[in-house]
Amino acid sequence: MTAEKSLRICEKGHKYYKSSDCKSCPTCNKENKPKNGFLSKLSSPARNALIHEGIDTVQKLAMYTEKEILKIHGIGPASLPIMRNSLEEAGLSFKG
Ligand SMILES: [Zn+2]
Repeated sequence: MTAEKSLRICEKGHKYYKSSDCKSCPTCNKENKPKNGFLSKLSSPARNALIHEGIDTVQKLAMYTEKEILKIHGIGPASLPIMRNSLEEAGLSFKG
């Protein structure tokens, strides 16, 4: 077995091991997907709906009331507890 995994450090300073020449850093990949933790917890229709409205951070989410969020096409009541939790984690809450 000579498939050696070498320690790499990405441009952001994350350390990771890769056996190939693949430059992708797992930490950066995660960060790049949904910019923000709360989007990654949502189902993709809900996530896309929020992104479409320009709501890509919990800070922006906190500018809306639950009613306003539910009015957005693609967002169902099941997404609300997830969003509420994410807001709470950030010390925020829905408007109103
Ligand atoms: Zn990285």
